[in-house]
Amino acid sequence: MSKTALITGITGQDGAYLSRFLLSKGYEVYGLLARRSTPTTWRLQHLGVLDKVHLIDGDLTDIASIVRALLACKPDEVYNLGAQSFVATSWAQPILTANATGLGALNILEAIRQVRPEAKFYQASTSEMFGKIQEPVQSERTPFYPRSPYGVAKLFAHWSTINYRESFGLFGCSGILFNHESPLRGIEFVTRKVTDAVARIKLGAPSRDGDGVQKDLHLGNIDAKRDWGFAGDYVEAMWAMLQQPEPDTYVVATGRTTTVRDMCRIAFEHVGLDYEKYVVVDPKFYRPAEVDILLGNPAKAKEKLGWEAKTTLEQLITMMVDADLERVKREIA
Ligand code: NDP
Ligand code: GDP
Repeated sequence: MSKTALITGITGQDGAYLSRFLLSKGYEVYGLLARRSTPTTWRLQHLGVLDKVHLIDGDLTDIASIVRALLACKPDEVYNLGAQSFVATSWAQPILTANATGLGALNILEAIRQVRPEAKFYQASTSEMFGKIQEPVQSERTPFYPRSPYGVAKLFAHWSTINYRESFGLFGCSGILFNHESPLRGIEFVTRKVTDAVARIKLGAPSRDGDGVQKDLHLGNIDAKRDWGFAGDYVEAMWAMLQQPEPDTYVVATGRTTTVRDMCRIAFEHVGLDYEKYVVVDPKFYRPAEVDILLGNPAKAKEKLGWEAKTTLEQLITMMVDADLERVKREIA
């Protein structure tokens, strides 16, 4: 008999890739759809899965809607990917971030405990919980030191997952995923901001700001280092965690870290341009507190889940630039 999954954040980057992956495994896929004034299903459409998933209206901050969704679809597995996920916005909207990203996870755990305790649960935790890093390479045993309201909210959700595992025996897994990107990444994140700008500069297209043809690219701290992987690879690790005999916590990363500067170099070089001629450092994009460097140790995921990142940073960034070149060409055609 096929399994049923409920995904919160199904309209986000990971929600779309996870939907496609679970459908390929024969799952019946349901998603919690938060009400917005304009449609949010473009990623599901892009991957060709919109008409194959079932969408249930609901919001992470409304436990009644979560209970209703659980009763409606009776999932075997629940993936909590929904969140206010952009670090910079979490300083502007800290309470909303705490509600959606932190308390939202507790709402789901509590709803599962009450009406669907047999469901396995995945929490989308993050390397941002390591923040001001306490060890040069971060593993499941590295102490946390979050540096943003987002990181703090995610840490609450992470410990809530472990607490419900230990207190009530829920099958709750926490995946500490390092940054992962794709052509479906939100435009405000640095990789996608760069690949979109590269496409616009190369094609002589208008900037997104509406101030004429894009000539340069304003960024914040380009010395920050991240361990970037491909979202399509990372959703497979989420699923693998829920197939293990016992619930656990796993770091999911590539084990390589790169500066924003070098990521820019890769993106611009792919279209034959020199990033130094276009990138402008603009303090406007500095953050109140920065996470300078993240580098994950994915050894446990490899050993227990048989999971490894398949896509290199070069493959990832060139894939994203190519996708943005196609998008911008269509836009200006
Ligand atoms: P996105 O920002 O692309 O997607 C977030 C999703 O959450 C969207 O579907 C959004 O809906 C939904 N959402 C936001 N608020 C609510 C709410 N109140 N109720 C219901 N749904 C809501 O994130 P990603 O796909 O990149 O990431 C998936 C998860 O993994 C997130 O929790 C993120 O914090 C976490 N994570 C991501 C990493 C990454 O590098 N991508 C790294 C580590 C963790 P809508 O479309 O309507 O806005
Ligand atoms: P994060 O790791 O979840 O915060 O992912 P982001 O893609 O938003 O940021 C990654 C790193 O790039 C952070 O250290 C940012 O400070 C840095 N960065 C530098 N310039 C920018 C910028 O213009 N936008 C964003 N989003 N990040 C930037």
